[in-house]
Amino acid sequence: MYKEINLTIKPNYIKEYETGHPLISKESIVDWNKVKDEGTIVNLLDDQKRFIAKGYYGKQNKGYGWILSSKKDENIEVSYFTKKIKSAIKYREVFYNNENTTAFRVFNAEGDGIGGLTIDYFNGYYLVTWYSMGIYAFKEDILEALKYSIEYKGIYQKKRFEAKGQYLDDANDFICGTKAKSPLLVKENGVKFAVYLDDGAMVGVFLDQREVRKTIRDTYAKDKTVLNTFSYTGAFSVFAALGGATKTTSVDLANRSRSKTQEQFSINSIDVETQDIIVEDVFNYFKYAVRKEMLFDMVILDPPSFARSKKHTFSAAKDYVNLLKEAIQITNNGGIIVASTNASNFDMQKFKDFISKAFKALNEKYSIEETFSLPKDFRVSDTFREGDYLKVVFIRKGQ
Ligand code: SAH
Repeated sequence: MYKEINLTIKPNYIKEYETGHPLISKESIVDWNKVKDEGTIVNLLDDQKRFIAKGYYGKQNKGYGWILSSKKDENIEVSYFTKKIKSAIKYREVFYNNENTTAFRVFNAEGDGIGGLTIDYFNGYYLVTWYSMGIYAFKEDILEALKYSIEYKGIYQKKRFEAKGQYLDDANDFICGTKAKSPLLVKENGVKFAVYLDDGAMVGVFLDQREVRKTIRDTYAKDKTVLNTFSYTGAFSVFAALGGATKTTSVDLANRSRSKTQEQFSINSIDVETQDIIVEDVFNYFKYAVRKEMLFDMVILDPPSFARSKKHTFSAAKDYVNLLKEAIQITNNGGIIVASTNASNFDMQKFKDFISKAFKALNEKYSIEETFSLPKDFRVSDTFREGDYLKVVFIRKGQ
């Protein structure tokens, strides 16, 4: 049994919660000061004490918690979590039955009814990510529900919240079952990825870009020179190379990116020597490339929403136009810029405005070839479209 309290919604916000808005904001609640501990179940009532919805307190950058149910008598316990997880698994049936892709998202937070919680599948292993101390309070019940709902080789976890002392005990991300090989090999549309489930915050691949990688390989890469910036483990480069790119150049600031990218190439039988991997600040690289008058047929931009390097602070919302301006200068006429962002503080329309601004500033023409948002396994709630944070635009430079 979890601690449970009643709170009163401010009149202006009642409709929002009644129609299924899943995110709880502090400013929508009259008596938020009554809530003390993350993980507390909060029953949201109107000023006539009529029940509207229940949720939990968990602090994330987005808000103060998430709605779990609109039913007054819903008990938040193992059976509740089992119901949610089972329905999420059913929704991914086609993914479980596809032997060419063995890594996908099984549970996508509020899109599957529980904000702050994601579960990913990697070839028999499950990775649970907790996004607040609040959701972590339900850990035992959620893991019990998960184990009951699936067959697994092993279960791992990531804690994506500040652990103020008490949760630092298990820095080890392994929870139960058998440990995965390190690296664990998974497949995506027939391509191999080396994944590390217990090696820091990121496992080596961002599953939400699956369709973008496939499109680069199948439609755009053949006989093209490709510059992949913010390349991380080089996933886009691998798909471009397999799609017949004449050469890929991967640029990332992090030292680890070189060996990780080499590894992804070699497990896919691509000769690493034929590809360029550069460990450098992308913004320096752009300067260098412009000075040398280098031109690429395809330039991929996939920066973090926010990053600080020695010389630069990059914020997608503020700096994407400038980033595009750099890329446009080193893209061949008729070439493609793949502009991607996972920033949730602006939408696709705004992103397209950035693109328009950048091309206008350089007096260049462009056309949009295609756009992508989150793939099907990254399920988005109908009442919270902001959850669809991914925006990818394939832009052709020139007439
Ligand atoms: N495109 C990648 C994911 C990018 S993650 C993929 O598809 O897998 C963001 C990456 O940007 C990180 O690897 C980080 O090291 C890198 N990065 C952040 N700031 C950078 C900068 N100024 N120059 C180069 N790389 C940077």
